[in-house]
Amino acid sequence: MAHSDLSARYAELTAKLISASGIYHAPEANPSGFIMTDEAYDAMRREVLQMERNHPHLVGTTDWKDEVGTTPSAAFQQVKHSVPMLSLDNAFSGEDLSDFVSRAKKELGLPEGEVLEFITETKVDGLSNSLRYEQGRLVRAGTRGDGTIGEDVTANVATINDIPQVLSAPFPDVLEIRGEVYMSKASFLALNQAREIEGEKLFANPRNAAAGSLRQLDPSVTASRSLGFFAYALGETSEPIAESQKALLDRFAAWGFKTTPGTAVCRTVNEIIKQTEFILEHRESLPFDIDGLVVKVNRFPYQEELGFVSRAPRWATAFKFPAEQRQTVVRDIVVQVGRTGVLTPVAELQPVTVGGVVVSRATLHNIDHIKKLDIRIGDTVTIQRAGDVVPQITEVHLQHRPEVSEAYVLPHNCPVCASLVVRDDAAAAICSGGILCSSQLTERLKHFVSRDVFDIEGMGGSRIEELVGAGMLSHPADIFKLHTFAGQLETFNGWGKKSVATLMVNIDQRRNVELSRFITSLGIREVGRTMGRLFANHYKTLANWRSNMEKVAAGDEAATQELLSIDTVGPIICREVAAFFADSSKLEMLDALCQEVSPAEVATSAKAENSPIIGKTIVFTGTMTKMKRPDAEADARDRGAKTSGSVSKATDILVAGPGAGSKLAKATSLGVKILSEDEWWNMVGATE
Ligand code: AMP
Repeated sequence: MAHSDLSARYAELTAKLISASGIYHAPEANPSGFIMTDEAYDAMRREVLQMERNHPHLVGTTDWKDEVGTTPSAAFQQVKHSVPMLSLDNAFSGEDLSDFVSRAKKELGLPEGEVLEFITETKVDGLSNSLRYEQGRLVRAGTRGDGTIGEDVTANVATINDIPQVLSAPFPDVLEIRGEVYMSKASFLALNQAREIEGEKLFANPRNAAAGSLRQLDPSVTASRSLGFFAYALGETSEPIAESQKALLDRFAAWGFKTTPGTAVCRTVNEIIKQTEFILEHRESLPFDIDGLVVKVNRFPYQEELGFVSRAPRWATAFKFPAEQRQTVVRDIVVQVGRTGVLTPVAELQPVTVGGVVVSRATLHNIDHIKKLDIRIGDTVTIQRAGDVVPQITEVHLQHRPEVSEAYVLPHNCPVCASLVVRDDAAAAICSGGILCSSQLTERLKHFVSRDVFDIEGMGGSRIEELVGAGMLSHPADIFKLHTFAGQLETFNGWGKKSVATLMVNIDQRRNVELSRFITSLGIREVGRTMGRLFANHYKTLANWRSNMEKVAAGDEAATQELLSIDTVGPIICREVAAFFADSSKLEMLDALCQEVSPAEVATSAKAENSPIIGKTIVFTGTMTKMKRPDAEADARDRGAKTSGSVSKATDILVAGPGAGSKLAKATSLGVKILSEDEWWNMVGATE
C-alpha cells in the first residue's frame, strides 16, 4: 500500500473505532443504533494493531487505543476513579489463549512446566460499575466513563436489588467493588414489549437497555427496569481483603453479591479451553447475554507483578465468543412501509432459536443490501445475532438454492395500498400514497401521539393499530373525534369503561397544545422536535408560521431567506417544508387538525416580553435549587432563549450551580459568561 493510502486507511479505521466505541458506551443516545458488530469492531482493531506492528511510524498519530469508554455525560456529576477502570485484551482462539498463558509465565519467570493458576468468569454483556463503600455503607456508584472519570449514578444504583446498601461486618473502611450491571434476556424482552405498546423506540440489545436504564436522570425509571449486578473486581481498598481472585469472589459472595456463573479455577491451557467449550455449549440457556469468558491470573501477587499495558491488564484476557449464528430458510420477503412512506424489505424466516431467542424475521435494510447478497425467497441463509434481537443475514448458501428461484425485485406498487412506488432524492423507495396508505397512516398516528409530540397517554402502538383497523381513524384529526365511538370502544377487548373515559380525558387535555409540538406533529420530513421548537420560537403563532411557509412554497425570496436565517435550517429543510405546503392534501389535513386543536401562541408568554435573554443560548450545569434543571431550561425557553446540553463557542451564558464540573471548566476556557443561580434569576427578573 502506498504511504499516503496507508495513512489514510489507518486514519479511517481509527476514526471508525473511536466513533463505534462512543456508541457502544453511550447507547441511550441512539437506542437501536449499532454501527458495527462486536466482531467487526474486534476485526478492525486487530487490523489496526497489525498495521502498527508493520508500520511503527503510524503509532501515536491518533490516541484511539486509550479510548476505554467515552467521555462522561455532563448530565451527571462526575466520579473520579482512584484506581482506573480499564479494558481487557482479547483472545479469539486456543492459540491466542496459549500465547497469553505462555507470556504470563515468561513475564513471571516461571518455567513452562510449572503450574500457574487461572480463573475463568463469564463475560456478561452489560456495563461496568464501581461501587464505593465507606464504613460498610454504599456512598457512591460510578460508571466506567473514560476509565478515569465516570458518571455518578449512585441514586440509580441504589434501586438495584443485587447491590447491598450496607455490608455486614467485617469490612475495610474503604472498599470499592466493581462489576457488571446487566439486564436479563427476559427483562429485556418484557421491556421492549412494553415500549412497543407505548410506541417508544426499542432497545437493540440487553446491553444497550442496561446502559440506557442506568444512565437515567430519574432513578424511578431505573427502578422500573429490573437490572442485575455481578461483582468481579476490586478498586480502591483501605486494606487487602484477599490473596487471590477466587478468594475475592468468595468474600463478595459472603457480603451478599452475586458473582458470575461459569467461574472455574484452571491449571492448564487445556482446562481453560475445555471451560470455554463448556460455557459456549450452555450459552443459550443462560438467562443473560454473554460475549465471552474472562481469563484471569488467580493470585494477586502475580497480578501485581504482571501489571498493565496502556488500556488493559497483562494478567487477564477476554476470550471472545463468535456471534451466535444459525442456518434457516427465507420463507418470504415482505415489505414494511414506514411513517414517511419508505419501503423496508424484511425476511420472514423459518423460526429458529439463536442465542436463546426465537427469531422469525431479519431486516434486509434496503434493496441494495438484498442485491449485494442476492437473497431470494427459498434460500438457505446464515443469520447472526450479535447481541441484538433482530438478526442480520450474513450469508446465502447457494448450494441449497431451490432449482427455481428468482432475484428479488421491490414491488412497483405499495403492498399495502397499491399506490405507485417512487424514488426520492436520496434514491429510497417511497410509497406515494401518503396517509391514504394505512401503513403510513398507522405509523404517522403512532408518531403523532408519541411522547415527544402530542404525548397522549394510553394510546400506544397496538391501540392505534386497533383503531385504524376498526376504521375509526383515517386522519390525525380523527383522534379528537374518538368520543363519538366511546360506547363501541368500551366493548373492545381489554379496554373497558374506565380506560376509555381516561383516554377521552387525556385526548381532550391535548386540545391546547404547544405550538412546537403541533408543528412537529405534522410529520414534515426533517422536522422533528428540535426543529418544531425552533420554528415555534421564531414565528410565535401558527397563523404567522403557516403564512410564511406558504410563501416559501410559492417561491417568495424574503420568506425563504427568513426561514434560512434560523439556526440549523438549511436547503433540505426548506425543500421539505415547501413540498408540504405545496401539497393540497397536506393542507387539508392541517385545516382539519386546526378545527380540533388550538396551538398556544409563543409570543404571548408574559415571560418573553422584554426578556433580556431572547435568542441567547444558555447552558445549565450543577444543581439548581429554585427548580429542577429541566424546568429551568423550559423556563429559559419560555423567556425566548435557546438551551443546550453542552458548552461551545456559541454559548452565551453558563448558569453554574454547586457541583459544576467539566462544563464550567470549558466555559471558563472559552470565556463564556458564567452566572450563579441567584445571578441568573436576578437577571431574568424572577427574584421572587
Ligand atoms: P472490553 O469492554 O471488551 O474491553 O471488556 C472489558 C469489559 O468487560 C469490562 O469493562 C467489563 O465491563 C466487562 N466484563 C464483563 N464480565 C467481566 C468479568 N468477569 N471480569 C472483568 N470484566 C468483565
